[in-house]
Amino acid sequence: MDIKQILQQNNFRFNKQFGQNFLTDSTLLASVVADSGITANDVVLEIGAGAGTLTRALSKVAKQVIAFEIDKNLKKILDITLADCNNVQVVMGDVMRYSMEQLHDLVGNKPFKVVANIPYYITTPLIMRFVEESNLVQSLTLTIQKEVAERLNSDHNCKDYGAITVAVQAVADVEILQVLGRELFYPAPNVDSAVVNVVFRRNKFDIEDSAFFRKTVKNSFAMRRKTLVNNLMNAFKLTREVAEGILQQMGLPATIRGEALSVGQFVELAKVLKNSVL
Ligand code: SAM
Repeated sequence: MDIKQILQQNNFRFNKQFGQNFLTDSTLLASVVADSGITANDVVLEIGAGAGTLTRALSKVAKQVIAFEIDKNLKKILDITLADCNNVQVVMGDVMRYSMEQLHDLVGNKPFKVVANIPYYITTPLIMRFVEESNLVQSLTLTIQKEVAERLNSDHNCKDYGAITVAVQAVADVEILQVLGRELFYPAPNVDSAVVNVVFRRNKFDIEDSAFFRKTVKNSFAMRRKTLVNNLMNAFKLTREVAEGILQQMGLPATIRGEALSVGQFVELAKVLKNSVL
């Protein structure tokens, strides 16, 4: 199946706004599917079917694939490229307009996996939705901008470490599986990508209050140049004495910055902080 030819024959015009950079190489697509570890028992949610290349590759190994696509102009292309894929359901629509409850309904309210070459403009909000709102998602295998993959996979004291790193690693294990040069996409974007696996392990840490944990993390990185004490004082209206006392209780120096705390230390910080502010 020559995807480029099908797109041309149907006068398809790429829409930059939707982040349309397609994967067309079948060997590469098979390797992305292999990276995801999908088996015949898995229900897969794909976000952004494009011309259906990844969707087809997934349909060969998964039990069922539910694929979203926002661009109505791709409907007739997908009708052609997925014509013989009986375990695929295409939903023409904006995935961000669907609540997590609606997404759960679509996958049958059972555990599911997300595999997607996602449009760059929704990468962070999309990841955070699954991190924060879904108790059924088992893993995310995402082709994303390389820099974002490095942020998800970073470690404390590294330059890419930030609020999203901690939020994701608090509930999941992250691994970069392969780097995809920009030339592998059609058309080629301005950045390189990476395939990242986010495997959820919700009981990795004992987080009593997820909302407060996220608030703690977000505010600890609010002003990166400031010390953690200053960030905590600002965000939680604490006196310096109280903020320094919290760090002292954790055996941390008063001069420490947020990026020096491991994910486990953030879990502890949220607990100690909550006791101090309530
Ligand atoms: N999966 C295909 C592939 O690998 O070749 C296409 C990937 S392309 C990077 C992203 C796709 O997501 C585009 O087809 C785009 O139209 C679609 N898309 C963008 N925003 C979307 C949204 N909010 N909801 C659903 N699909 C979206």
